[in-house]
Amino acid sequence: MSEFVHKLKSNPRNNVIDDSFWQIKYQDDHRGLELIPLLTTTIPANKSGVVVKLIKDHVDEDAHDLGHLRRIAKEADLIKEGQVEGETADSTEKKPASEVFLRVIIASKDTEVDFETIKAGITAILSYEPPFHTDYASKYLPFTKQESVEWSRNAWPIMWRGNTAAIQTKLSDSELSEMKQKLNEVIALSKANSGTKELPVATLIVDPKTGEVLSRKLDTRHKQGNPLNHCTMEAIAEIASQELARRQERGTSKQEREREGKQETIDGEEDDRLYLCLEMHVYTTHEPCPMCAMALNHSRVGRLVYVESSPGSGGIEPNSGGSHGIHWNPQLNWKYEVWKWVGDDLGVEKVDESVNA
Ligand SMILES: [Zn+2]
Repeated sequence: MSEFVHKLKSNPRNNVIDDSFWQIKYQDDHRGLELIPLLTTTIPANKSGVVVKLIKDHVDEDAHDLGHLRRIAKEADLIKEGQVEGETADSTEKKPASEVFLRVIIASKDTEVDFETIKAGITAILSYEPPFHTDYASKYLPFTKQESVEWSRNAWPIMWRGNTAAIQTKLSDSELSEMKQKLNEVIALSKANSGTKELPVATLIVDPKTGEVLSRKLDTRHKQGNPLNHCTMEAIAEIASQELARRQERGTSKQEREREGKQETIDGEEDDRLYLCLEMHVYTTHEPCPMCAMALNHSRVGRLVYVESSPGSGGIEPNSGGSHGIHWNPQLNWKYEVWKWVGDDLGVEKVDESVNA
């Protein structure tokens, strides 16, 4: 089975559009088949209702959500398909050959169950002690139907009813060409730092309604002597001051908006600056570090697009840095879309793995 698992893991990318943009949605999007052991037993089909009820009464909560698995399957089919090991109970002499036998999941093996009570209960129902087995199942709901079919082939069958987490965000042709154009623009900007002490890292912030670039920032942390002056932070700061100036011009202070009855706070946070990049699109050459990724979260951007991964220090990708996945982290109260360029080489200069972009 290990070769099979390896093959699945080597092709982990769902959610790639136009062979060029990979939407990094969830950490789970990256996973391959991971197996967990199950405690199962074999029972005659005509006793399945009573036995399943007994199991449900005695297993409070599985260590893993097993809702994606079929609880019961025909044992002969499971063995024939190679999904479980063992002999069919049908073929043993003890039981009538005409009876259909089922395998039933009791719980995942790392769930604490009162095995003796369950065994005694099933034994009482059947009038004999059934065999218990260790079978294997996918720990998670797969992302695609194809994965579901493949993963079920060598393990306990999955019940595929779709996976809402895997629904792909659509990009129109004009959005795709806009994204490519803006990436080329930010890469061209980053070239200005080539051959200098500065990092070849740059950021654009774009108003998605007009396509206008509102901020263009090159990394200048060395020149400014401040290691925290990342270009993404600088770009956010520039938008913030532009927007504050505009609001002052219009005379729409926070107090006035409140007088107009406009409630602009989210989750009780009252800083005006939080909303200054609301739903804006951010283009950057390199996967942002956790500080920048968090600043994008705080300023409520709508979309981040970048080219190079920052495996040592990035704040976005499942395998980067501390696997923060800051754009989707369920503990944070804002989420933004992230697209990474996975098409042809666009000539972005690499930076040292340890550098925070
Ligand atoms: Zn940064």
